[in-house]
Amino acid sequence: MTKGTASHGKMGDKKTHVPCRRCGRRAYNIRASFCASCGYGKTATMRTYNWAKTH
Ligand SMILES: [Zn+2]
Repeated sequence: MTKGTASHGKMGDKKTHVPCRRCGRRAYNIRASFCASCGYGKTATMRTYNWAKTH
């Protein structure tokens, strides 16, 4: 294992997040089949937290 950015070379090899149908953010996880931003695919209600800025 090397230190720094060298090990990041494989990053971007496989995409995990695609644009979400509900919130439009590139947060829909293909493998887990849910949106990390709004919870689409996991919950019928919007994933919201009061600490999360909506803008
Ligand atoms: Zn979403």
